[in-house]
Amino acid sequence: MKGFVIGLHRARNEDMIALVLSPTEIRSYYRFFGARHSILQLGHLIDFETEGEQGHFMPRLRSLSHMGFGWLHDHNRVLVWHNFVNRFRDHLKDLDTVERFYYDLLLDAALKWGRQNPKRIVCESYIELLKFEGRLHHENFCHICETPLGEQVALMQAFIPAHTECIYAPPLDKEKLFRFFESGRATHYEDSEIEYLYEVVMKGF
Ligand SMILES: [Zn+2]
Repeated sequence: MKGFVIGLHRARNEDMIALVLSPTEIRSYYRFFGARHSILQLGHLIDFETEGEQGHFMPRLRSLSHMGFGWLHDHNRVLVWHNFVNRFRDHLKDLDTVERFYYDLLLDAALKWGRQNPKRIVCESYIELLKFEGRLHHENFCHICETPLGEQVALMQAFIPAHTECIYAPPLDKEKLFRFFESGRATHYEDSEIEYLYEVVMKGF
């Protein structure tokens, strides 16, 4: 089975508990001496088998291998990847089964991660996620005061538009933003604007 390690914490001694997102489920697994295992890292795509599925305790990971990506040696890209993966963990951690969409979204992102600004990939992936969950607020009114938006807007968590003065946040051009909402592509944004959008995503899915 394949899955992304989207959460990892130390159990007793050097054992680790890994939260793994596979195409159909999200589960915690135990790994003895996992802290010594270089494969078991946050954000890694692992191939694995399990044992102890019928026991009273958490199932254990075995036959671990790691599907590497070229960008894993790039410290800055890895940092952004960890941030992205952590948002998935916060968003999905209380579920048992998940739709394949989330695994595919992460896999798509990982395959592009070395070739583009990863923060741009985060923003575009997040639009896909909002559309998938039916949560994209593509409406011409402010979420706070419910009156029409102007040419400049600010963004709340979950890319919800509002007046800049209603949420005390810096402005974005509305036409550009709505173009982004429609196309899902952020190629018309400068890196500085991507930074703004990325910070909004980092507030949580
Ligand atoms: Zn308002």
